[in-house]
Amino acid sequence: MARRPIIAGNWKMNNTIAAGVELVKALAPLVKDNNTVDIVVCPTATALSGVGEALKGTNIALGAQNVHWEKSGAYTGEISTDMLKEVGATYCVLGHSERRDYFGETDEGVNKRAHAAFAAGITPIICCGESLEIREAGNYINHVVNQINAALEGFKADEVAKLVIAYEPIWAIGTGKTATFEQAEEVCKAIREAVAKKFDQKAADAIRIQYGGSVKPATIKDLMAQPNVDGALVGGAALKAKDFSEIVNF
Ligand code: 13P
Repeated sequence: MARRPIIAGNWKMNNTIAAGVELVKALAPLVKDNNTVDIVVCPTATALSGVGEALKGTNIALGAQNVHWEKSGAYTGEISTDMLKEVGATYCVLGHSERRDYFGETDEGVNKRAHAAFAAGITPIICCGESLEIREAGNYINHVVNQINAALEGFKADEVAKLVIAYEPIWAIGTGKTATFEQAEEVCKAIREAVAKKFDQKAADAIRIQYGGSVKPATIKDLMAQPNVDGALVGGAALKAKDFSEIVNF
């Protein structure tokens, strides 16, 4: 069976509640007739509730940008799965390179967060990707496969089938420098092969792998034509209703 595309907007640290609600109110009519793509927006924590309300009755799902593995307790600054479920979030971005680079996120932490999210019925969107230095040194496939193997540790094959991975080369994020379609396909294919090796072919055939990094309306069609690219994780272009709708309606 063909994999259903999934296109998610990661708003990062942008948009107040009012701005987020305004954005999804402009976006919803532009994508309402799209029934072939899973559409997700991931606002900041403070805007989740308000944006979640505004999304009711639309075909756009709500995602968070992080979640903690403990149910509750003394974890200042963190958010639990119950809190995300309360606001209607059904996806959660995990292990974004910005969290890894600026906030000390580790492979182990990503794995724990992924297990907690999945157990709570929230689909993890697990991010991976290499720096320019690693790309130029030539061992980027190894780097990305190691990140994914660590993030998926302890999952069963039938669970892995339901997860989402986002390959985001760090050198392509916010730089306007999209990876070429061949570069995106090469790594997404390697990730799928790694999933087949660690789990089974069925899980590898089912897991959805997004590309992220300067995705724009002009680049989405060719990206989506790659056999191992099942969607996109969009940053900057997801902040504009028109651009994001054009990406979603590729
Ligand atoms: P840009 O689309 O702004 O490059 O961001 C990509 C990204 O990091 C999405 O998570």
